Amino acid sequence: MQTLIHNTTIVTADDAATVHQNAAILIDESRIATIGPSAELLTQYPEAERVNGRDKAVMPGFANTHTHLSLTLARGIYEDLSPPHKPPFEGGLAPLPLPVLIDGEHRAMCLLGAVEAIRSGTTLLLEDAVDIHRYAADLAASGLRLQFCERAWDRAQAGIGQPGPFEVEPRLAQQGLERIEALHSQWHGHGQDRIRVGLAAWAPDMCSPGLLRALREQQERLGVLATIHLNQMWGEMAAVRGLRGVEPTTYLSQCEFLSDRLIAAHCRCMTSAEEQLLGQSGAAVAFNAAIAARRGLSPRIAELETHGCTIAMGSDNMAEDMVEVMRTGLFMERVRRQDGRHPTPDEALGWATRHGYRALGVENAGWLAPGNKADLILADVHRAHLVPFLRPVSCFVHQGQARDIESVMVDGQWLMRDGRVLTLGEETIVREAGRVARTAWRRLFETRPDLTPPAGMTLSG
Ligand SMILES: [Zn+2]
Repeated sequence: MQTLIHNTTIVTADDAATVHQNAAILIDESRIATIGPSAELLTQYPEAERVNGRDKAVMPGFANTHTHLSLTLARGIYEDLSPPHKPPFEGGLAPLPLPVLIDGEHRAMCLLGAVEAIRSGTTLLLEDAVDIHRYAADLAASGLRLQFCERAWDRAQAGIGQPGPFEVEPRLAQQGLERIEALHSQWHGHGQDRIRVGLAAWAPDMCSPGLLRALREQQERLGVLATIHLNQMWGEMAAVRGLRGVEPTTYLSQCEFLSDRLIAAHCRCMTSAEEQLLGQSGAAVAFNAAIAARRGLSPRIAELETHGCTIAMGSDNMAEDMVEVMRTGLFMERVRRQDGRHPTPDEALGWATRHGYRALGVENAGWLAPGNKADLILADVHRAHLVPFLRPVSCFVHQGQARDIESVMVDGQWLMRDGRVLTLGEETIVREAGRVARTAWRRLFETRPDLTPPAGMTLSG
């Protein structure tokens, strides 16, 4: 089966930032067959299914290299409850616990995140979570390209960023290692390799040296990707210094956990020496710009990149909108560098697409070229905020919105077409997730009268 998107603008996001005007792209099964002048390809491939790309732009899909889909549950709440940047540190991501979800409820929130991901043009997504097997089949059916990272830790009675003793719980470590093994044997390589399974160490202050070494051994044996929350907050920095006498990245280096198959999420609160150490290892950084901005923190992207890290992007908590993530990353880094020209929109687009695919080890994908995987999006650029579309990349990175994206393809299959998500029941999922979240938060405050709902929270309706 061949699909020809013609009379369109093609933003390849390749290394040379090539953009083709009046062009066409031919998709043959799961691959991009060719890109060329529209008139030529229309004559050459009369049998292909035609998609008129007039007033639209074709771009590679986004790679979200760090998210937790079920945290859509904390949307509108946790964004404003970030941990302090100065002592006293308490631990945890917010001073309010998350409501406990039962299986069906958990699935509803994850699917909500998947719908939003597809709507914002995501084609590849790394999910870092516990018990991914509970909703792996639902996510697989969404058609997204997925990197599951099942999480392990072995610190009992404490949260991330919490000072104090490290109480090792070997049973937690064992369970984590077993969950990773089980998910790997069940899902790795499924969907013609569209689904891969790796591992996640939670964070440096939640993992003992013994567990980090065991995870590294498991990673090598399975030949998979690893991820970790690294230098996420100042409380973590203080906790690791207190527990190990060194900074978090140095601690990981001592435990031999750093590698070029590691995605280090955040890297916001770190020393220059740590940036160098991480760069030398060849690890990738998930630049989670939107959540970083909400927390009032920023990684030093230029320094990390100079030292050798691959910069990719992620949404992390509460939102899955990669268009917003990409633009926020560009803005934050310009403010931090006090430079109104750098990074360029082409760089930001590269972080959000090509670099993310490279970081997750998905070869021949993440930019548009003949032979590459057909993971792409179609955006309507005939819109008040995008006209004139004279410099396509700059225009979309600075002004584009998730709602401009009307079609999404992974492995040559449409997940969304003309604004309609084809692989998930969007209307039912959105309604169900809204109901589940209200019920869960109401249940939390009913069973915990000691907790006060944050200002402005409405639980009725
Ligand atoms: Zn995270």
